Amino acid sequence: MNVILIGAQGSGKGTQAELLANALRLKPSASGELLRAAIAADTPAGRAAKPYYDRGDLVPDQLVIELILDAVRHLDGARGIILDGFPRNLAQARALDAEMEASGERITDAVYLDVPRNILLDRLSGRYVCRAHGHVWNIKTRPTRVPGICDYDGSELYQRSDDTPEKIGHRLDIFFSETIQLVDYYASQGKLIQVDGTRSVEQVHQEILQRLDPNLGRQGAFSPLPDERSA
Ligand code: AMP
Repeated sequence: MNVILIGAQGSGKGTQAELLANALRLKPSASGELLRAAIAADTPAGRAAKPYYDRGDLVPDQLVIELILDAVRHLDGARGIILDGFPRNLAQARALDAEMEASGERITDAVYLDVPRNILLDRLSGRYVCRAHGHVWNIKTRPTRVPGICDYDGSELYQRSDDTPEKIGHRLDIFFSETIQLVDYYASQGKLIQVDGTRSVEQVHQEILQRLDPNLGRQGAFSPLPDERSA
């Protein structure tokens, strides 16, 4: 099972990726995190990606695909992979399909978290990230127990520099003009699972689980993150 999560910034994609990875024993791979790790480790790929990353531009497709394929090849006992942040456009999706086929693999499902733009804008303006591990919180929809402090690791929360109103608008424009095309692409392959992402984290997770793997969904495999137990 190799799953792609498609969703705009603020759609809850990272949270759902983490929950699905745990419930389905899939290896989570966020392209942004893979790039940050490669840059920090100063690998050849990291060195090549750094100038693009530093400018906030998209890194060339082939570089990101190599990192993703490397993650696919090293599953560390997981039964597949769950991709978050990749592909971001049709060219990447087509290249990924071709490269995976050449490696004897394939994308089995593409989950689209459907959230209207006005709700995304509202969510993103309240989003905070922890310094230690990048855990995502929201003062409106997912507050921490102690304001300004991450529930998981106790580190300080900060607002991302690209979560300003203008930059949020620009990033959403790119999503709704480019990345959204992936929805039709995977629908035409019969792989699309579209879910209403405006509901609670648990409701969204349960629906995805049910539709990805009906047996697991019926058994109620939801394993809440610590902060969601009391939500
Ligand atoms: P993210 O953490 O997903 O917001 O990504 C941070 C940065 O990593 C982006 O601004 C891009 O420079 C790069 N990046 C992440 N995913 C991709 C991708 N699929 N294609 C190209 N560049 C990417």
